[in-house]
Amino acid sequence: MTGDGIDLARRRFLRGGARRGREARDPAPIRPPWSSPERFAALCTRCGACGGACPEGILQPGDGGFPEIRFGHGECSFCGACADACPAPLFDRTGHPWTLTATIGADCLGNRRIVCRSCRDACPESAIRIAPAPGGLADTAVDAALCTGCGACVAPCPTGAVAVRPAAGAMTGDRA
Ligand code: SF4
Ligand code: SF4
Ligand code: SF4
Repeated sequence: MTGDGIDLARRRFLRGGARRGREARDPAPIRPPWSSPERFAALCTRCGACGGACPEGILQPGDGGFPEIRFGHGECSFCGACADACPAPLFDRTGHPWTLTATIGADCLGNRRIVCRSCRDACPESAIRIAPAPGGLADTAVDAALCTGCGACVAPCPTGAVAVRPAAGAMTGDRA
């Protein structure tokens, strides 16, 4: 253990480092909203109370049994039930829930001249714009200023082109 009580191997694992050797392309897991990365690493007991409380079913046990967000199951409504259920002092609801932002990947159907508005129609913040592009293509873009990182746009995408990740320069689970 280190001086601050956080085992370094545990910290690396919780930040996704343990995956890098065998699953180099997997992004670091997304932890519950409002959870402090440092306190999560030190204090999460993997009790599962947060996942059991989540009405959206998006908090699932990941590697090692630690809870991680799976937007393939749905979106975060920012209800706070996970934070309320957690017996450990690792949530801080005084600030933003996280710095996650949606990004649109190359598999977007707009890049294949196929009309699709699934992500845009699912977004509760009207943060996704789809504009015509030369050659019959469509340019699908996310307004980061409007995006809350709720993940509602992830599951509806028929090609899995939408990812929700920490904003550039932020650690997974960091809050703004
Ligand atoms: S805030 Fe609500 S919807 Fe979001 S992960 Fe927590 S319990 Fe689930
Ligand atoms: S309720 Fe808290 S301690 Fe239990 S698994 Fe969730 S984050 Fe970890
Ligand atoms: S993560 Fe939520 S707010 Fe952001 S673009 Fe997707 S649906 Fe809209």
